[in-house]
Amino acid sequence: MGVSAYLKLSIVVALVTIALKTGAWWLTSSVGLLSDAMESVVNLAGAMFALAMVIIAARPPDEDHPFGHHKAEYFSSGFEGTLIFAAALAIIWAAVGRLLAPQPLERLGLGLALSVLSSVLNGVLAWGMLKKAREHRSVALEADARHLFTDVWTSAGVVIGLLAVAATGWLWLDPLLAIAVAANVAREGWSLVRRSADGLMDRAVEPAVQQQIDAVLAGFAHPTTLRFDHVSTRRAGQRLFVDLHMHMPPGWTLQRAAALRSSVEQALMAEVPGLRATIQLLPMDVEAHFDDQAERVL
Ligand SMILES: [Zn+2]
Repeated sequence: MGVSAYLKLSIVVALVTIALKTGAWWLTSSVGLLSDAMESVVNLAGAMFALAMVIIAARPPDEDHPFGHHKAEYFSSGFEGTLIFAAALAIIWAAVGRLLAPQPLERLGLGLALSVLSSVLNGVLAWGMLKKAREHRSVALEADARHLFTDVWTSAGVVIGLLAVAATGWLWLDPLLAIAVAANVAREGWSLVRRSADGLMDRAVEPAVQQQIDAVLAGFAHPTTLRFDHVSTRRAGQRLFVDLHMHMPPGWTLQRAAALRSSVEQALMAEVPGLRATIQLLPMDVEAHFDDQAERVL
């Protein structure tokens, strides 16, 4: 099975999980189970957005989008993150109300059975994804699998908590669990929003990648005949961009300069996969001033 097949399977499993856990909440009226169902919505959103990324972001550049479609993912992650964050707050609100006015739980056995069933489903999927991720060394798939395992533990916590409610009659335990789970969901929703905001505002590449780029340039630079400056980077989804100046002696032929630029480009792309370099050729003592701003930020 390929990565996109796993993503489609994740979507199906997330939908089934949401149905089972919502059913469990409806049967028992436990806010803990409702909160746990919300956690699966995060997985559904995550898988849908990963799949959209695979489909849309992989589309080649066209006339209207000459730089490609790599930023498409940020629309969906921003939208989904906002919805998830808002829903988590609504659950916390409901749970606080329940904490103040406790309500007995009903048909707990059946509700917990549904919850356990959905956890088993998620556990099996996570295990399969982890195996696949190791075969293909896919960091994204591995992250998804680990997230899914965390959910299985969260659900187990809720089930154990509800068993404790049944054993002790401590009704306040249910909303308390709901608040803990919902707080985690809110955190995840918020991180989706932040991630899309970073992407839309052209955040620079990670410092480690920046260092790789600097090292490649340093390998070519020469104190008197070759200088690189105005280096600025940005990330758009999986694609990385770097813009920079290459300053050289004014007497060099264009042919010589272009050949060197090509070597620098190739070295950069070999060092950083997915990098697209735009290199301006300039004489040693001439500067292009339109992007002085960018230099100060870096
Ligand atoms: Zn310059």
